[in-house]
Amino acid sequence: MAVDSSLPSPLGPPACEKDAKAFQLIEEMTRNTDSVQEKVLAEILRRNANTEYLQRFKVGGAIDRDTFKSKVPVVSYEDLKPDIDRVANGDRSPIFSSHPISEFLTSSGTSAGERKLMPTIADELERRQKLYNLLQPVMNLYVPGLDKGKGLYFLFIKAETKTPSGLVARPVLTSYYKSEQFKTRPYDPHNVYTSPNEAILCVDSFQSMYSQMLCGLLMREEVLRVGAVFASGLLRAIRFLQLNWKQLAQDIASGTLNPKVTDASIRNCISKILKPNPELAEFVVKECEGDNWEGIITRIWPNTKYLDVIVTGAMAQYIPTLDYYSGGLPKACTMYASSECYFGLNLKPMCKPSEVCYTIMPNMGYFEFIPHDPISPVQISRDSPPHLVDLADVEIGKEYELVITTYAGLCRYRVGDILQVTGFHNSAPQFKFVRRKNVLLSIDADKTDESELQKAIENATALLQPYDTNLVEYTSFADTKTIPGHYVIYWELLVKDPANQPSEEVFNQCCLAMEESLNSVYRQCRVADNSIGQLEIRVVKNGTFEELMDYAISRGASINQYKAPRCVNFTPIVELLDSRVVSVHFSPTTPHWTPERRR
Ligand code: AMP
Repeated sequence: MAVDSSLPSPLGPPACEKDAKAFQLIEEMTRNTDSVQEKVLAEILRRNANTEYLQRFKVGGAIDRDTFKSKVPVVSYEDLKPDIDRVANGDRSPIFSSHPISEFLTSSGTSAGERKLMPTIADELERRQKLYNLLQPVMNLYVPGLDKGKGLYFLFIKAETKTPSGLVARPVLTSYYKSEQFKTRPYDPHNVYTSPNEAILCVDSFQSMYSQMLCGLLMREEVLRVGAVFASGLLRAIRFLQLNWKQLAQDIASGTLNPKVTDASIRNCISKILKPNPELAEFVVKECEGDNWEGIITRIWPNTKYLDVIVTGAMAQYIPTLDYYSGGLPKACTMYASSECYFGLNLKPMCKPSEVCYTIMPNMGYFEFIPHDPISPVQISRDSPPHLVDLADVEIGKEYELVITTYAGLCRYRVGDILQVTGFHNSAPQFKFVRRKNVLLSIDADKTDESELQKAIENATALLQPYDTNLVEYTSFADTKTIPGHYVIYWELLVKDPANQPSEEVFNQCCLAMEESLNSVYRQCRVADNSIGQLEIRVVKNGTFEELMDYAISRGASINQYKAPRCVNFTPIVELLDSRVVSVHFSPTTPHWTPERRR
């Protein structure tokens, strides 16, 4: 779409010509939200008119919104799974998209315990790049001088697999970091990283993190911002430093790289910048050897102006810990995106976390919204497609569930995110991320829902049967006070024969049985990324859950409708539970995980 360069930018004065162009694009798109959306839908429907999916719903080549909305159902992943499986198994006919499916992006959302597979096409990469290109110009408005230094960003790729027919399946960021767009990105003085591509592109998480941290230490004076994609990733880096500073300091003192980093390309590029520097090594030792890690980020990287991490949604739980390690540096949440589609950006990235709102860019896909009312939810039936609210028509203050139609061929797909409209930039609405539907527990990329937790509980409590011990009630808590955070499960038990109680070992095995039952993203975080700690079972005294009920009723809950919550995060409740703990148990080892999908 053409950009009118004569429009002034109310966003602010651009730092350079490139930024001016980015602002023009933002203005052009957000001033014409509805017409851009109409054009995007028409373009998608025109190019995919001959796909099996659109033909199945007799769209008949129509490209208008009314026909589309009246014929095409609103769907979830499970509705698409049979067709997705066909693509995965080698059907190359145009099922979703007239463009060939280039790869699958594996979402952190799961289906039957495995990552969802999202089909994508080659030109989506360019569309994602368009959104990335807007982030730095907006940041430059709020933090001038970023061209005078570097960004220490901890970025990682993950293992990829192939579907039975040979299509690559990998997370969207792995796909992006491995793309030419990223690897050969043009030099931008405002956006220089301390991490070399070689370190980012190493699939071994230890070697990757070690070398990225080392580069960050070597260039500590130049670092102007520190970041990771999500808050949990940055805390993982701090934890890594806590565990590895001695060796890192030794490398710096001697000018030789830890032999555990075996990747030849990393060794080669680090050898060019690592020279003996006893003074820096001494500094690292001095800062890290004590127990006090408060403000460690600003102590080691004194010129850091802000942290670039997402702290919205499930990541909000990490704000206090980030504040502790950074002395309360601003936290910039710059974008809102998913494997299915990149959505939009935060036009005021230095705002407080509680004020973050994302402006959905109308050129990224076609967006619709299901009004979200937990009391009387909108009924979505496949047989009579509902008329949903368009992007330009959402109302301030209301909550909606996001539904997307993408160039890659997802049509009216429910992403699972609940958003609240907080305002508008021109005619484009801005949304607060409220939550993801059905997520009970989350530490890193993992998302565990109630039924997954229930299944894990059932598998674990099966181990108690020989001891004639029953589970009376349970609840859970995402404990992020430890780094990495971990799942805590509170159990109240009925031990029928005190002479035959389950042993410590049995409870430990129960922890492991739960972990083995959780989805593959959880197990990957546990095993490959070390971003989740051992699952913990805390056995509480008999009568604790009754006390919990009394507490809820004293605060107005109805006694008839009361159900024990399956997850708790309200501090007084967690404190009550913790004060009744009689024993604690941990997984003795890690669960199984391989990149291959379980059949
Ligand atoms: P994935 O499918 O693994 O790429 O995860 C995408 C999901 O991550 C989104 O649908 C959101 O639920 C969540 N997410 C992405 N960006 C943000 C953000 N800025 N704030 C909160 N949650 C986010």
